[in-house]
This record gives sequence, C-alpha cells and structure tokens, in this order.
Amino acid sequence: MVDVDHEIIGVEGNPRFRTHLVRERNREIVQQKKKTILAQAGKLECEVCTFNFKAIYGEIGNNFCEVHHLIPLNQADGLVETKLDDLAIVCSNCHRMLHKGKPLLKIEELKKIIGSIR
Ligand SMILES: [Zn+2]
Ligand SMILES: [Zn+2]
Repeated sequence: MVDVDHEIIGVEGNPRFRTHLVRERNREIVQQKKKTILAQAGKLECEVCTFNFKAIYGEIGNNFCEVHHLIPLNQADGLVETKLDDLAIVCSNCHRMLHKGKPLLKIEELKKIIGSIR
C-alpha cells in the first residue's frame, strides 16, 4: 500500500501580471445565435453530443449553452465579420475538446471521435 503524504502542500495564488492579446468578441451575435436556434429548434442542444443544459439541470440550465466560433479569430488579422452560420451551439465539455485540438477540431471531427467511442 502506498502511504499518502498529507503534508504535501502546493502554494498557489501568487499574483502575477500577464499580458496577452484578447480579441474582442461580439456578445450581440452570440445572443442572436442562441435566440435564433431557440426559435427554430425550441432548445439549445450541443451540436456535437446533443447535451441539453435545460434537460439535465432544469431551470438553472435554461437558456444556457456555449457558443463556439467556427472560424478562430486569432487566425485572422484585423476585424472579422461573423455570421450566425459561423457559430455553433456546444456544451462546455465539447467546447473544451474542440479547443484542445491544434488546430481547432471541427464539429464533425469531434462527432466522429465520440461516435467511435460510444
Ligand atoms: Zn457536447
Ligand atoms: Zn470556441
């Protein structure tokens, strides 16, 4: 049996200054995407795994989802016009996984991955 050393302590929370360029996202278009999908489908379902926050979490999950930009802003120089079709409704897990891919995974690619495991 392995003894777990409960005395091991990691010191965290040391403040550091970081600078990095954050591209400004347009909240309006993200809200518009959610509105449009809600009006069309009546629900916000992850386009990868079909997870539905409202169905699982009830009221607290109502109107909740993440919105993924299919065209990464950091690949463009200058301003980009985003259309509703450039956005995808995703759950938080799938969203993270899409971004783990270098380059970004495509919705279809992640769908294939979970399809082959399920
Ligand atoms: Zn998902
Ligand atoms: Zn994203």
